[in-house]
Amino acid sequence: MQAWTRPFVPRVTVETDDAPSRLRVHDTAREELVEVGPVDGTARMYVCGITPYDATHLGHANTYLTFDLMNRVWRDLGLAVNYTQNVTDVDEPLLERAEQTGVRWQDLALDQTDLFRSDMEALRVIPPDHYIGAVESVPSVLGLLESMLPSGAVYQVDDPEHPDWYFDVSTAPGFGSISHLDHDAQLKKFVEMGGDPDREGKRNPLDCLVWRLHRNGEPHWESTALGEGRPGWHIECSAIALGHLGPHFDVQGGGSDLAFPHHEMCAAQARVASGEPLADAFVHSGMVALDGEKMSKSKGNLELVSRLRANGAEPTAIRVALLDHHYRSDWEWTDTQLEASEQRLATWRQAVSRAEGSAPVEALVKGLRTSLRDDLDAPAALVVVDDWARRTLAGEGADDPEQAVAAIDALLGVSLTA
Ligand code: ZN
Repeated sequence: MQAWTRPFVPRVTVETDDAPSRLRVHDTAREELVEVGPVDGTARMYVCGITPYDATHLGHANTYLTFDLMNRVWRDLGLAVNYTQNVTDVDEPLLERAEQTGVRWQDLALDQTDLFRSDMEALRVIPPDHYIGAVESVPSVLGLLESMLPSGAVYQVDDPEHPDWYFDVSTAPGFGSISHLDHDAQLKKFVEMGGDPDREGKRNPLDCLVWRLHRNGEPHWESTALGEGRPGWHIECSAIALGHLGPHFDVQGGGSDLAFPHHEMCAAQARVASGEPLADAFVHSGMVALDGEKMSKSKGNLELVSRLRANGAEPTAIRVALLDHHYRSDWEWTDTQLEASEQRLATWRQAVSRAEGSAPVEALVKGLRTSLRDDLDAPAALVVVDDWARRTLAGEGADDPEQAVAAIDALLGVSLTA
C-alpha cells in the first residue's frame, strides 16, 4: 500500500558532543527507561496503524507524532530506520460501519485511509517505509498460521457450525509480561477490546481469534489448510511485523490502550512462531481526552485533525500543540492550546527572520538533542526553542538562523518557513 509523501528532513550539521549518544525511552515491559535502537546500522520499529472506518482524531495524531519523534531522533543519531505500519483494512468495526452506512467496506477503508494519509502529510509525519494493509497481508498471515499448526498453538474451537481458529495463550512463554495485569484485569480489557472469553470450545478464556471462518456476506480468502475465512487483528500485526522487520526488532509502539490485549497477543504469537521475543522495547503513548473523557470512536467524543484543518488551523500549530504534552502523559485537548501554539509559532518565526542573526545555535541544538534523547521530552524541547527565540529577539548573538530552522525542522518536524 502507498504511504504518504515524505516531508523534507534537513540534516543537522551542528556538532554537540556532550549530548547523550543514545535514545532512552520508557519500556512498558521492563517498566523503566531503556536505550532503544542499535549503536549503528538500522533501527527497526513497528507501530500499529489505524482501522480505517473513521477519520484521524487527535489521539491517533498524538501516537504517530510520538513515533515520528523517535524516528527523527534515530536519524539525527546517524541511524537508518526501517519503520513499518499496518492498516487494518478488514476487521469487525470496519465491516459494521460499512453495513450501518450502506457503503462497500472496501470503499470506506479506501476513503478513510486517504484522509489519514493527508492528515499525516499535513502534520509532517515521516511515512513508514512499509505501509501494509491487512488485505494484502493475508498470504503472510496464512503462512504464519500454517507454520504454527504443528506446535498445536493454534486450534479450532469445538463448534460444528463455525469451527474458527484460535491462538492458545498458554503456549506462549511469558504471556502477560508486557502489560503486567492480573487475570481479572486482563479479562476486563480483553472484553473491552472485542475479545470473547466466554465462547464455548476455547481452551483458555483469553485465547484470541486468528482465523474466522467464512460467514455469508463476509469477505473471505481461500485456505486449504485452515478453510475459507479472514484474519484476526492480532495475528495480522504479528505477520506484518515478522515479515518486514524480522523476528526481533527494536520497538513495538502504539497507544497505551494497545498494551493489552493487542501487543501482548502479537508478541505471544510471534514468540511461539519464531522462538524469539518480538521487540526489545514496547513503547506506549498516552490517551487524549475531550470533554472529560478519553477520545474514542466508540464514545464519539472526537476532535479530528481534518476538522481543525478545515476550520483554518495551521497543521504546524496542531503539531506544536500536541508536542507540548509528554508522550506518556494522558491529557485533555482544548482549543486554547491551539491558540497558544499559534502565538508560540509566531514568536519563533519572528526570531528566525531577525536580520542581525540569532542567539547561539549550538546551545539550541544541544538543548533539543538532550531533551529528545531523554525519553522524547518534547515539552522540554519546545521550551529550549522558546528560550532561544527570546534571546534572539532580545538581540543576543549573530548566528545564522538557517541552522536553527534546520534543527527545529529535523528534530521536531516543525517548519518555520511554511
Ligand atoms: Zn497492531
